[in-house]
Amino acid sequence: MVCQRCLELVVLPIHSACDYAVVKEGANTQSVPKGYDVLELGEDPLDLLALVEEELLLALPIVPVHDPKDCQQPVGLEEPESSEDEVTRSNPFSVLAQLKRDPNV
Ligand SMILES: [Zn+2]
Repeated sequence: MVCQRCLELVVLPIHSACDYAVVKEGANTQSVPKGYDVLELGEDPLDLLALVEEELLLALPIVPVHDPKDCQQPVGLEEPESSEDEVTRSNPFSVLAQLKRDPNV
């Protein structure tokens, strides 16, 4: 994800807990404890991956930003960074080009 404040990469911990009660199709769900999502098992096998994916999407912040103390953007400074920095950052291939120039590497 990219921080919407400084446009640097940001890694955000995702706190997501979900409780599921797996029941057979057509089973009585009245006994499922409150707060549990009911997963009805039918003919199809349970698609756990899709389930996790859905949960992750729900847990993602809508606007990802750094913790204020980690953010690269100084408070009150809205000017874009120098173009030199932009080029260096947006061109990872320049590193490869440098490596290529040295045949001993
Ligand atoms: Zn940031």
